[in-house]
Amino acid sequence: MSDSAPPGPALLDHLLGQNRRWAAEREASDPGYFDRLSHQQSPEYLWIGCSDSRVPANVITGLDPGEVFVHRNIANVVHGADINCLSVLQFAVENLKVRHVIICGHYGCGGIKAAVEGATGLLDYWLHPVRRLAREQRDVLDVVADESHRLDRLCELNVALQVETLARTPIIEAAWARGQELRIHGWCYDLKDGLIRNLECGRAGPRD
Ligand code: ZN
Repeated sequence: MSDSAPPGPALLDHLLGQNRRWAAEREASDPGYFDRLSHQQSPEYLWIGCSDSRVPANVITGLDPGEVFVHRNIANVVHGADINCLSVLQFAVENLKVRHVIICGHYGCGGIKAAVEGATGLLDYWLHPVRRLAREQRDVLDVVADESHRLDRLCELNVALQVETLARTPIIEAAWARGQELRIHGWCYDLKDGLIRNLECGRAGPRD
């Protein structure tokens, strides 16, 4: 094999080894765990967060497998025509009957930064709603002198926007119309201290 050959599967053996240890420990501490979990999942939460590897939903909320249904994309954006995100939302609301939908952004988000500083190709298209938001909220953002704080403010505004976008989807509107109990929450995670901040921009029903 030459030096430039791509890494082989053997290099991932440590991941499979860690998986075997995790499964054995889990079963030892809770016999029948996997058998029970394989028959059903009934999470109360749908998490829509950023793809950033430092913001794993289960880990930062202390939730076990089976407890949170997850959709992640760059900068936690809900596009009205994204059949991936909307299919996840439909399944979570109509089949799993989650009671909470959490939009969780994070400070220091590279996607938010790219939206402002410019991106290319598909990423440019994907981040369009964030760039438009930054334009619309220029007055709010311009008073924040520090650039990283300004981007963090945009992270928060983006979460609030996505909460509103979610609330206007036919899936959520229909759930509320039939009286299904469903709350949307807007949160932001801080990479620097590991804490989640509730942005108090959630919704529990349609606007009057
Ligand atoms: Zn991010």
